[in-house]
Order: sequence, then C-alpha cells, then structure tokens
Amino acid sequence: MAAKTKTDATEALKQLTYLASAMKAPRIIEAAARLADHARDAGWTHEEYLAAVLEREVAARNASGAQLRIRAAGFAARKTIEEFDFDAQPAVRQQIAALASGGFLTEARNVVLLGPPGTGKTHLATGLGIAAANHGHRVLFATATDWVIRLSDAHRAGRLPHELARLRRYGLIIVDEVGYLPFEQDAANLFFQLVSSRYEHASLILTSNLPFSGWGGVFGDQVVAAAMIDRVVHHADVLTLKGASYRLRNRGIDTLPSIRETADHQPH
Ligand code: ADP
Ligand code: MG
Repeated sequence: MAAKTKTDATEALKQLTYLASAMKAPRIIEAAARLADHARDAGWTHEEYLAAVLEREVAARNASGAQLRIRAAGFAARKTIEEFDFDAQPAVRQQIAALASGGFLTEARNVVLLGPPGTGKTHLATGLGIAAANHGHRVLFATATDWVIRLSDAHRAGRLPHELARLRRYGLIIVDEVGYLPFEQDAANLFFQLVSSRYEHASLILTSNLPFSGWGGVFGDQVVAAAMIDRVVHHADVLTLKGASYRLRNRGIDTLPSIRETADHQPH
C-alpha cells in the first residue's frame, strides 16, 4: 500500500472513531478497521463495505443478530424444525436433529434433500436455514431457477467472479427445487461454478424431487451434472423423504402420478 494511501486510511479511521462514538455505535470503529483491508482485497463496492460495517453494529445490538439474518435470508416461508412432524418422516429424525446443531456448517458440508412433492423438503431446508442463522451463520435461500437468474445477470455484467466471492461470505446457501424446470446449458455451467466455488469452503443445501439420475436431464448435460453431483455429495448428507404429500394427507389422495413415479427414486 502506498504511504499516502496508508496515511489517508489512518486519518479516515480516526475520524470514524470520533463519528462512531458520537453516534453511540462503538462497534463500527472495530468493524470499519477490521473489514477495510478485507474489503479492498475482495473488491467489495463502497455500498457492500458500508452494509457489512453497519450490519456488524446492528447484529451486535440485536442480541444475537439471528432475526436479522433470518430476515435477510429470503425464505419463502418461515418453517422451523420444531414445527416439523417427524412421525410423517421417522427415518430422518435423527439426521435432522444432528444437522440442526450446525456442525455441518463449520465443516462446509452439504445437505441434499430428495423426495416426492409435498414431503417436507422445503420445510426442512428452511428449518435448517433458520437453525443456521440462530447459530450465527449468514444464509441465503432461493429456488434453483432464481439462482440461475442471479448468476446469469452477474455473468452478463462481467461480475460473476465477484458475485461468487460475495456468496462465499454466506455460510449457507439453499437451492430449492432443483429439477422443477430444466435449465439451459449455460445455466448448467453457471450452476456448476456456484457449486465449485463453495466446494470445501461453505455449505449448500439442495432440494430436488428427482433422484440424482434425473439431474442430467435437468441440466441438459450429463457430464456437467455428474461433475456437479460429485462435488456436492463428496461431503454431504443425502436424506431421502418418502411417502405421500403432507399437503394431501387425510384426503384419501395418495395416487398422484408424480408420487408413484418418484416414490422409490428409480431412474426414469
Ligand atoms: P416439498 O418441498 O417436499 O414439496 P414442503 O416442504 O413445501 O414440501 O411441504 C408442503 C407443506 O406441507 C408445507 O406447508 C410444509 O410445512 C408441510 N409439511 C410437509 N411435511 C411436513 C411434516 N412432516 N410436518 C409438518 N408439516 C409438513
Ligand atoms: Mg418444495
């Protein structure tokens, strides 16, 4: 760093110390100094840096910051593990309890939830996300389709590496509904880059109504799909939910074609 820049930075931090204490926001001083070099190295924008600094202050004020992280995650609905009826899915009770303690996040392991529609994949992915936020991890939730749109936008703007680096700051990214819609081949490559960039750095939760054997069709490329699945499952818990849709329970409807088709996760 040039001498002048360093002096300028020191001066600015001095001024920040004064301003932060005038605002009675003492954690800004520490966060501003601590995040400055990191922000420069990672190429954060001014807005991102300011948001990160302010977020530290707000998170600290807000007892644990968990509510802030849960709101920022973008869950489709707030569903907790406590609200899940494990009598409907007894086989995953213990695994989910272990995952909810958050150990998989510190090890950058992944979770894959497979099963027919309505069996609780989105509910459990959300519940694990809320548990992660409560454990202090930053979380982002979106459908696979939304992730592809986001990554395509970044790619078109020439900012994909920056976006992937930014996303690595999230301890958990949830990709819901892999397989509901087929992707373009470009999308498959973008998705592969997301998976690769997080591999052994930070966790992913993926949900799908298709067995892995059906992912090649979704991604329109068997080779890319196989390479991606390989990275996802290398350090992953794969949980398979079974049975009829919880939405349709007690209604005498248990013969939806999709349920029949995927109940045993046979390749098709
Ligand atoms: P999927 O993502 O597998 O299609 P969802 O997680 O969206 O299924 O579940 C459909 C609805 O049924 C949601 O409202 C969810 O909260 C509820 N649900 C599913 N399984 C259970 C369960 N075992 N206990 C409580 N609610 C459940
Ligand atoms: Mg779902």
